[in-house]
Amino acid sequence: MKLAFCVEDDTDEDVFRVLLTRILGTEVTPSETAYRFPRGGWTNALRLAPFIAKDAYNKGLDGALFAIDNDGAASTHSTAHKDGTEGCPLCELRAAARVHEPLSWPRHGLPALRYLFAVPVQTLETWLLLARGYDFKGESETLGRDGSGRAKLKRLLYGVEHPDRDTMRNAALPLAESLDVKALAKVSPSFADFLTQLR
Ligand SMILES: [Zn+2]
Repeated sequence: MKLAFCVEDDTDEDVFRVLLTRILGTEVTPSETAYRFPRGGWTNALRLAPFIAKDAYNKGLDGALFAIDNDGAASTHSTAHKDGTEGCPLCELRAAARVHEPLSWPRHGLPALRYLFAVPVQTLETWLLLARGYDFKGESETLGRDGSGRAKLKRLLYGVEHPDRDTMRNAALPLAESLDVKALAKVSPSFADFLTQLR
């Protein structure tokens, strides 16, 4: 299964590739084109999302994954939201991607497109720290709302605030490969939502 991976960096791509492969039970590979939502580039992400959704169709891929950290957004997603709910990154990203357009186009025998959206609260590091059993003392949903909190999440997971690629891979990949999916869904609503989309 080949997906366009629209993520913030290479480590995010690695982690989501492993998680999707495990949860979907089929090898998931990123397309050759490395689509990126640069950190802090939220407006850019909303602008790019519909082009990436259509590009996945045009390239004959199986769909796309859009993943961007919540990073302290005013509203976090709830299942009660209607698409486009103002202030919720997940709903805004989903609405911006306009996936109903490519989903309505003929597939000429290819499997149906899948479009997946993930907005870890507050960041992907939160998911991985919860998976590692870190005790947030009730702050797992709030730590990382601001820059100093996000720096702390990096120090907790990687040991340093500005890890290099190998340090990130060495810490993140074993967690992605071994984490208990059901247990993480119980403690992280944003991961539970992601899991729901996959089932
Ligand atoms: Zn929402």
